[in-house]
Amino acid sequence: MPPVSYLDWNAGAPMRSRARAALLAALERAGNPSSVHGPGREARRLVEDARAAVGALVGAPARSVVFTSGGTEANALALCGLALPVAVSAVEHASVLDARDDAIRLPVDGDGIVSLPALAALLAGRGPMLVSVMAANNETGVVQPLRDVADLVHAHGGLLHCDAVQAAGRIPLDMRALGIDLLSLSAHKIGGPQGAGALVLADQGGLRAMLRGGGQEGGLRAGTENVAGISAFGAAAREAGAEAAGFAALAALRDGLVGACRAAAPETVAIAARAPRIANTACLSLPGAEAATIVMAMDLAGFAISAGAACSSGKVRPSHVLAAMGLAPEIRSGAVRVSLGPAISLDEAGRFAGEWGRIAARVRDARAAA
Ligand code: PLP
Repeated sequence: MPPVSYLDWNAGAPMRSRARAALLAALERAGNPSSVHGPGREARRLVEDARAAVGALVGAPARSVVFTSGGTEANALALCGLALPVAVSAVEHASVLDARDDAIRLPVDGDGIVSLPALAALLAGRGPMLVSVMAANNETGVVQPLRDVADLVHAHGGLLHCDAVQAAGRIPLDMRALGIDLLSLSAHKIGGPQGAGALVLADQGGLRAMLRGGGQEGGLRAGTENVAGISAFGAAAREAGAEAAGFAALAALRDGLVGACRAAAPETVAIAARAPRIANTACLSLPGAEAATIVMAMDLAGFAISAGAACSSGKVRPSHVLAAMGLAPEIRSGAVRVSLGPAISLDEAGRFAGEWGRIAARVRDARAAA
C-alpha cells in the first residue's frame, strides 16, 4: 500500500517543525507565567512572544490577543461574552451555530455566501447586534465578503465576530482593514498543536469572561496558560504569516485535481467552484453516492479526506452547510471535502483522480443493478 496522502488539512494541518521544537522546548521548562521568579518570568516571555506573533498574523497588536483552548472556545467566548442579540450565518461551524440558542440564522446563496439584503433587513428592524460571519468555510472553502458585512453591522451600531480558523495563513487577514471586531483562531489549523487558540479583540470593552477567577489573559480567560501549546502556536503563526502570500499558488494544483476527477467521472459536481475560495479546498460530489463510502474507499487507497464536516463521533452527519446552500439531497449525500497542503504532488493528484474514477464507476454499476 502506498504511504497515506494526507488531504485533510482543514481538519488539522500537520505540526510544523518549528512549532514542535517550540512545544518541546517549553515542556522542558518549569514555571508558571503568573509567578514572579525567574522561571515564571521565562514562561511569561514565551507567552508574550507568542501573543505578538499571533496578533501579527491578523494585523493586531499583542495586547488584543486572548489565548483560549482552541477555536471552539474562542467562538464561545465571543458569542456568549457580549450582552448583545446575535445573528450567525447559516454556514458557520457548529461551535458558532450552537453557541447561543437564541441566535438568528442568516440565509446564504447557492455558493454559501451570506445574504447582504437579508442582513440589512434584519439589522434595520433592531438595535445593535453581534453578527458572526466566518472568513472561509471549512467544508467548501468559500470566502465571505467581510468588509461589506462589517459596514452593514457597524452602520447599525453592532459588532462583527469572524471565525477565521480556516482562513488564517491562507488569505491575507487584516482585522482592522476588514472591520472585524472579534476574530477566532485555532493553532492546529496552521501547523500548531491541538488545544490552543485565540480570540483577538479590536476593543476589550464589554466582553465578559466565561472562565473566571484567576485573572489571567487580562481577566478574560482564567486558568494557567498552556505555555507549551501557546509557544508552539506563536511559532506556527510566525511561519504561516510568512507563507500566506504563497498559499494562493495551491489553487492551480487543486483545480488540476478537480479537473482530473471530472475527466475520470463526468458526473462529478464541484461545489461552489466559481465562488471565491481559499486555495486548498475542494468540495466534490458523486451524486447519489454515500460520502462515508467514498471516504472509506479513499482511505483504503491511501488518501485521507473528509465527508463534509468532520464529526467528533467519527460518524458522518448531513452537512448543514450544503443544505443551507440549497443543494439537492443526492448531491449532498455524495459530497466529500478534499483539503490540500503545500506538499501535494502532481503524481498524488493523478492517483487520486484515478481512484475517484474507479469509485464513480462502482457507484454507477450499483445504481444500474438496483
Ligand atoms: N471553526 C472552524 C471554521 C473550524 O473548521 C473549526 C475546526 O474544525 C473550529 C472552528 C474549531 O476549532 P478547534 O478545533 O480549535 O476547537
